Amino acid sequence: MAILHKFGFPLFAAVMLALPLLPLPDFWITQLNYIGLYALVSLGLVVLTGVAGLTSFGQAAFVGVGAYTAALMSVSLGISPWFSLFAGIGASVLVALVLGAITLRMSGHYLPLATIAWGLTIYYSISNMEFLGKYDGILGVPPITLGGTSLGSGRGIYVLIWVFALAAALGVTWLLDSRPGRAIRSLKTGTTMAESMGISTFRYKVVAFVLAAVLAAISGWLFAHFQRTVNPSPFGLNKGIEYLFMVVLGGVGHVWGAFLGAGVLKLIEDQLQVLLPRIIGTSGNFEIIVFGLVMIAVLKYAPDGLWTFLGRLVPPRQRVRDWEGAPRLPAREKPAHGELLLEVEKVRKEFGGLVAVNDVSFQMRAGEIVGLIGPNGAGKSTTFNLITGVLALTGGTVRFRGQEVGRMVSRAIARLGVSRTFQHVKMIPEMTVLENVALGAYTRTRTGTVRAMLRLDRGEERQALAEAETQLARIGMTDKMHELAGNLALGPQRLMEIARALCTDPTLLLLDEPAAGLRHKEKQALAAVLRQLKSEGMSILLVEHDMDFVMGLTDRIVVMEFGTRLMEGTPAEVQASPAVRAAYLGTEH
Ligand code: ADP
Ligand code: MG
Repeated sequence: MAILHKFGFPLFAAVMLALPLLPLPDFWITQLNYIGLYALVSLGLVVLTGVAGLTSFGQAAFVGVGAYTAALMSVSLGISPWFSLFAGIGASVLVALVLGAITLRMSGHYLPLATIAWGLTIYYSISNMEFLGKYDGILGVPPITLGGTSLGSGRGIYVLIWVFALAAALGVTWLLDSRPGRAIRSLKTGTTMAESMGISTFRYKVVAFVLAAVLAAISGWLFAHFQRTVNPSPFGLNKGIEYLFMVVLGGVGHVWGAFLGAGVLKLIEDQLQVLLPRIIGTSGNFEIIVFGLVMIAVLKYAPDGLWTFLGRLVPPRQRVRDWEGAPRLPAREKPAHGELLLEVEKVRKEFGGLVAVNDVSFQMRAGEIVGLIGPNGAGKSTTFNLITGVLALTGGTVRFRGQEVGRMVSRAIARLGVSRTFQHVKMIPEMTVLENVALGAYTRTRTGTVRAMLRLDRGEERQALAEAETQLARIGMTDKMHELAGNLALGPQRLMEIARALCTDPTLLLLDEPAAGLRHKEKQALAAVLRQLKSEGMSILLVEHDMDFVMGLTDRIVVMEFGTRLMEGTPAEVQASPAVRAAYLGTEH
């Protein structure tokens, strides 16, 4: 069955490209043309909605941008279609950047609503512009020619449509399995963790949005030269909903879902357009009602779409371990032992009336392991969030290696060499352990979206995966690297987070309750790893409830209670302190 992974795509591509050689009726070639055009748009939605979690009802508008650019340039200006392809892509990128800048920072349901709004705006703009022919559109679009051959007929344009659709499928598949792809896949589960790994999540929302717009515009360009005429109706909101329906039906998270959805929808649509008017008695776009009902049923009973049923037949892909011997990623310049590393001065965080962290100060030197302890709710995790920029300071300052970082966003602080784990594990459950850890190598690598789509990133990718495996080996988890992170028990998930943090090559490591949920043996192994890291010069700030763990490991301990610093001292001093004992006895027993 693994053979499917290797030959599935070439086989599909060969079959699709050979079809026009068969004596298929023209009707079927036309149908397949539409399916290819729809699949192109759907592929964009797979990335945008399925993978990145950003729902768009407005993709038809981008198809319109591509189609109208093509029509306008070739009819009014007599410019070659091959040039208008680039112009259409350029126009869609421009429109997507403007719309994205305005709408992609919106959260929750506001983004989908915004896509409806601009989908309508673009549609009515197209429909009302004199130079675009208003509702009549533009007639007489010439066919595309390639090397003197006109691709005007159904079979000619068929090959072109499917070359683009298949190339896009390959590009998207390659993208999702890469550095920028991991960043895009991280978007659906919130932004905190990715930002803490140095990733600009907004940037990748824009990337997904622009990519989806470009694929839609290419579809529009092909559509204009296939139909030989454009008018506004195929670019309205109805069609936008239909595109979304296709991917939901096919399987919104999967590249193949785009083809499956486009194919099934086109075939059903034809049947319904004949059948429904007969049942209802008058003609109209009744199929959209049926699509709506089916969409609700699919979302409820098979949220992975029809791919749920086909995907079961394909075993999960086992990543080939091809990174052995890859050169190590460059390492950061590290501070000298004992250098002043972290200065936390009177940091303060208020949540409304609650003072969660109340003017807390402490310092850390390079090579130290410092414990941050205190009863539940004392403000330890909040202090972590203030140091790492996850939360904004209400007051106070934080300096890292002499540089003021208190007003920086978390990804900027991460890039300086501060890395962390979370008390409540944050990961991408549907990515493998190895891929999750490789997220940590993000700031140490460079591959961008286009390079990844062209598969020009393999050298660097091997380096990133080798680094991820090295860090997994450190915590004894190489045997689990191909498992899905979501399938791990809580203890191993925490260890995975440590490996991910180490993968960033940090100078300062902040661990929020790393031993929680670990068994005794695992705790001992973790303590050994942390000692090993210390001996290599790593500085560690550690929140932990297990006192034996903290006492045996730390050089110094800061004790917090009710948001304030209760005391600071060596493990022995803290253990002997009546105030600390009272704090713990008072709240925990
Ligand atoms: P600890 O990690 O020491 O157990 P936390 O830092 O998580 O404590 O929480 C400190 C206090 O701040 C608690 O009272 C908690 O309820 C409150 N708190 C933490 N995060 C938030 C938040 N985002 N909004 C409001 N209150 C919060
Ligand atoms: Mg906490």
